[in-house]
Amino acid sequence: MRTAIFPGSFDPFTAGHLDVLDSALKLFDKVIVAVGYNSNKTTGFFPVDIRIKIIKDAIKPYGERVDVCCYKQLTIDLCHKLGVNFIVRGLRTTTDFEFEGVIAQANRVLDPDVVTVYVQASHEYSFISSTVVRDLLIHNGDATPFMPTGVDIKKYIKAKKELKK
Ligand code: ADP
Repeated sequence: MRTAIFPGSFDPFTAGHLDVLDSALKLFDKVIVAVGYNSNKTTGFFPVDIRIKIIKDAIKPYGERVDVCCYKQLTIDLCHKLGVNFIVRGLRTTTDFEFEGVIAQANRVLDPDVVTVYVQASHEYSFISSTVVRDLLIHNGDATPFMPTGVDIKKYIKAKKELKK
């Protein structure tokens, strides 16, 4: 069985991420969405447990072919822990390409047997980013069109506000 991890901050997981996942499932039997605590984004907008709940809502239609986990270590160490040899990442623009290239090269040096596979964003999702979704949510905008079907983002905004009380 071919398994890949799809690592990212997913703060939050968007329709763009789901599109990448959907393509990855054409290549792999199973994909594990791995929520990483990025060193530059330590706090984040949503706490990791809410990010995971959002992903669980989004991946429901895929059943057992998709799993979700979170990790703090290096992505390559997560690959070793899970026994996975493929990393899936999405590409929207040339900026993504350059950024992703640096990460993939580093991972390749750390373990040449782990291959990074890029999925090109569909044009209808290529403008979607977690940053845009967060900006909308901060300013009470409706982020629903940018979210995967099945994710009630308003419910999670409420849950986030409850945590602050
Ligand atoms: P990170 O903080 O690790 O970059 P993100 O959660 O922002 O993680 O994104 C995870 C992956 O998904 C990255 O490879 C990113 O380029 C990709 N991605 C994000 N949004 C889209 C989109 N709309 N279309 C295709 N790929 C995307």
